[in-house]
Amino acid sequence: MATPIRYAVDLDDRTQHLVRIRLHVPADLAPGGRIVLPVWTPGSYVVRNYVHHVQWITATDADGHDLALELDTLTSWRLPADARGEVTVDYELYANELTVRTNHVDDHHALLIPAATFCYVEGGEDRPHEVHLPAPAGERVFSLLPPGASDDTYVAEHRDHLVDSAFEVGDHPFVDHEVAGVPHRFVWSGHGGRPDLDALAGEIEAIAGAAIELFDGELPIETYTFLCTGWDQGGGGLEHRDGSVLQIPVRAFQDPDLLARFQSLIAHEYLHLWNVKRLVPAALVRPDYEHPTRSQSLWVAEGWTAYYDELLPLRAGVWTVRRFLDTLRDTHQRVVGDTPGVGLQPLRRASMEAWTKHYVRDENSPNVMTDYYGHGALVAGELDLRLRAADPEGDGLDEVFRLLWSRHAYHEAGYTEADVLDAVATIGGDDLAALVETRVATPVAPQLEDAVAAVGLTFTEQEGPVPPWLGATTQDADTGVTITSVLRDGPAWTAGVTGGDRLVAVDGRTVARGELTAVLLTHEAGDLVELAVTRGPRLLRLPVTLGAPRPGRRLEAVSQPTPAQQGAFRRWTSRPHDEVRS
Ligand SMILES: [Zn+2]
Repeated sequence: MATPIRYAVDLDDRTQHLVRIRLHVPADLAPGGRIVLPVWTPGSYVVRNYVHHVQWITATDADGHDLALELDTLTSWRLPADARGEVTVDYELYANELTVRTNHVDDHHALLIPAATFCYVEGGEDRPHEVHLPAPAGERVFSLLPPGASDDTYVAEHRDHLVDSAFEVGDHPFVDHEVAGVPHRFVWSGHGGRPDLDALAGEIEAIAGAAIELFDGELPIETYTFLCTGWDQGGGGLEHRDGSVLQIPVRAFQDPDLLARFQSLIAHEYLHLWNVKRLVPAALVRPDYEHPTRSQSLWVAEGWTAYYDELLPLRAGVWTVRRFLDTLRDTHQRVVGDTPGVGLQPLRRASMEAWTKHYVRDENSPNVMTDYYGHGALVAGELDLRLRAADPEGDGLDEVFRLLWSRHAYHEAGYTEADVLDAVATIGGDDLAALVETRVATPVAPQLEDAVAAVGLTFTEQEGPVPPWLGATTQDADTGVTITSVLRDGPAWTAGVTGGDRLVAVDGRTVARGELTAVLLTHEAGDLVELAVTRGPRLLRLPVTLGAPRPGRRLEAVSQPTPAQQGAFRRWTSRPHDEVRS
């Protein structure tokens, strides 16, 4: 059997954010061997400068002699052609960026993301990869990998398995529980926050139960581990083969809205254990860690996951019907109302351009791109509702998902967009598959307005006063209001306002934090007002003609839902239609 690739991790200087890695290169791979640090991690589609954090790197032969290690590409090194015996490569990483895709070590913990941490040895990708990582005194190591035969060792089947298995180290609270007889663990490495871990385990069980039901009772894992960290702000998740890394604001456990988003994040990453990790888009089956790998199917891989990450907490009884409908409404408003880029970038192209658009945002992004998460979720929602309209006794998109799973899970070629459209056609007919193709291939918004009737819902206008429209998204700053984005061809755009401007006053009246709506309500559509904004060192006065109000909307029950609509609603949400009104 080929010698495994072995690593040892040294956290002695973690207070200074330093991690040292010793990589043992087997003798047969050493002569002229290439040592490679990935440039991206699957699930996060942008080229990351992980190599920036390599402080130094050296190589030594079996006799302890230094070897010359030549820089090969920007992110790889080459051993001498005459290297003999096992070679040791040592390197040090600076790790002070807390996200789910980057390393963070300090006096409190160590979160190690394998793509950013472990150089691989070209030619050794298919061998077992072993990581020696002893826990510091009083702490423990939480690994997504199974333990090896020797102490403090964790073993991956091959390189891709290692890249798919993060580590967390520390004296962290955690809870062990079972879902469908399978061991699950939730680890909390945030500072404080006081999570109720038993309550959380109950919610995870309920959400996982709804996910298992979606996939016909199959739970295709032997263990599952959530590694959840927290900071003062920020958030996100990254799926792994047998677990996930989550990040939330530490105050989430005390804030009902943040907690609901966290529950949705749990559902999202958990769903990935089916959709993406075992039902894999063709382009992502064998990732090339040195180059961007583009997939056309992120509107399914992420969009459908984003749709179900709100539906599953509802089906699980963790969310109320009202929270679900309001969240769906918000996504609809954001994608259809506040993203002019929907009319420019088709959903399929958004998937292909994830590397250059989605993950590289600026103030102009809403004008030029659409979000394959939210937009993809709405296409999934429209498809689901049209399937349910055609067959109120059916299971809508659940059936398509199950069919895709039964046809393509674990397939070495993964699945393609054509496979998805074929599954839609099998369940819903060619016309519906053609509609989905149009939604994906052309720059159009999904149409939910009539589709929601299938489950006895309708969009209504929110009551109460609505201010005239400025055509900009804003964010409260410490003092005042920041214009985050200016929507193309809207009033602010025409007036020359730019994303990033600080709004100081409207018609001579200063705008304090939280005051913009109240200030705008003193004006009417068609009014010509003067905006005072600061832009770097400049103060500009920009006349703007305010646009017609855009009332917010709500998803409400139709006045007389038919038994078919009520039945379809229950099959869709696992909840009675009456709860729409409560
Ligand atoms: Zn995702």
